Amino acid sequence: MKNNDISIYIHIPFCVRKCLYCDFNSQVPASEDAFFYYTDALIKEISSSREYLTDRKLASIYIGGGTPSVMPSMCIDRVLGCISDIISIEDDTEITIESNPGTVTEYKIKDYVKIGINRVSIGAQSMIEDELRALGRIHTAKDFLEAYDKFYWGGIDNISVDVMTGIPYQTRESLIKTLEEVIRLHPKHISAYSLIVENGTPFYEKLMYGTLPLPTEDEAYIIYKLTQQYLAQNGYKRYEISNYALGTKSGSSKDKDYRCRHNLRYWERGDYIGFGVSSASLIGNHRFTNTAELSEYVSAPGAVKTEDMTLSDKDAMAEFMFLGLRKTDGVKISDFKESFDTDIADIYGEVMKKHIKDGLAEFIAGEEGEEDGRFMLTERGMDVANYVMSDYML
Ligand code: SF4
Repeated sequence: MKNNDISIYIHIPFCVRKCLYCDFNSQVPASEDAFFYYTDALIKEISSSREYLTDRKLASIYIGGGTPSVMPSMCIDRVLGCISDIISIEDDTEITIESNPGTVTEYKIKDYVKIGINRVSIGAQSMIEDELRALGRIHTAKDFLEAYDKFYWGGIDNISVDVMTGIPYQTRESLIKTLEEVIRLHPKHISAYSLIVENGTPFYEKLMYGTLPLPTEDEAYIIYKLTQQYLAQNGYKRYEISNYALGTKSGSSKDKDYRCRHNLRYWERGDYIGFGVSSASLIGNHRFTNTAELSEYVSAPGAVKTEDMTLSDKDAMAEFMFLGLRKTDGVKISDFKESFDTDIADIYGEVMKKHIKDGLAEFIAGEEGEEDGRFMLTERGMDVANYVMSDYML
C-alpha cells in the first residue's frame, strides 16, 4: 500500500470574521501585513523541509484554513512556486483551495487557474438566509451562487460544496431546499458535515444558556439520514462518513473519480506533510504537528512542535482501522498485512467477527479470495461509527 507519493497541506489561518461555531485555528480580522509575513514564514518552512520532499511523487496539495481565498493570489503563487522548486507539480496533481463566498473575485480565480489550482472547495453550509445568519457566516445564498459561477466559468469546474446539517433553525424542508439548490449546480463533490458544538465557541455558550435553537437530537438524526438519501437519489455516492462524489469509480473506465484524493490519503495513512501554523504531518509512523501560536510559528517557522512522536505499531494499527473504516469501502485486508507484516485476523479477528454478527460491519472477498478482501462498516455501523471505532483501540 505504501508508495513513494506524498501530499502537502498548507494552512492559511486567516478569516474575515469568526463564525459562531468555529474552533479552527483562524485569526480575524486578516490584515494585508499578516498575509505577507505569513507567506514568508511558509516559504521558510517549505524550503527547510526538502528532506521530506526530495525524490517523492507529489500526489496532491490542499490549501485549507481558515479562509485561504482571503489571501492575495500572489501569496499563494509564491508558496506553490517554492514547492515546485523542490518537487515537481504535474498536470494531474490535485491542487485544492478552500474558498468562502464573498472572498473571491474573477481576477483571483484567473490567477488560481494560471498557477495550477484545479479544484475548489466552497463553504456554502446552507442556502437559507436565517440559517446562514445564525451560523455567523459572512455570506448570503446569493453570494454563494455568484462565487460558484465565478469558479465554474473561470475554469475550475472540479468543485466541492460544503453543507452543514443539524444547525440552528434547520428543518427537513429547509435541508431539502439547501440540497436542491446546491445539486442544481451539479458540483462534482459534496461534503455534508453535522454540526458539533465545540467548547469555547459562542455556540457552546448559547447551548449552555439554552438559547441555541438547534433541532432536537431525534430531528437532527432524521435530517442526517435525509441528507444521505437525498444525495444518493441524486447520483452522489457516499465514499466517506461525510463525503459524497459524483461518478465515483465503480470499476467502469468511463467513470470519472471525483473523490478528494487529498483526503483519501489521510484516511489511507499515506504520507503527508503540513506547512503552516497547527499543520500536522505523517511520514511513515512519524507524526509531528506545528505550534498553534501564530507569533511562535512566524518567528521560527516549523521549529516549534506541539507533537513530535513515532507511533507504536499498536497505535498505527488502530489508526489504520479507524481512519480506513471511515470510508465506505473500508480497509483492504492485504493492505494491513503489507503495512504491519501481520494478519489482520490475528489482531482484530474477534472484534471484526463481533461487528459482523451485530450487523455493524461486513466482509467482501476480493477477486483473489479472502486475502485481498475488504472489511467495511455497514450503514448502521457508520451511524454509530464513534462507538464502533473505539473497539479498534489496542
Ligand atoms: S470561515 Fe471557516 S475557518 Fe473561518 S471562521 Fe468560519 S468556519 Fe472558521
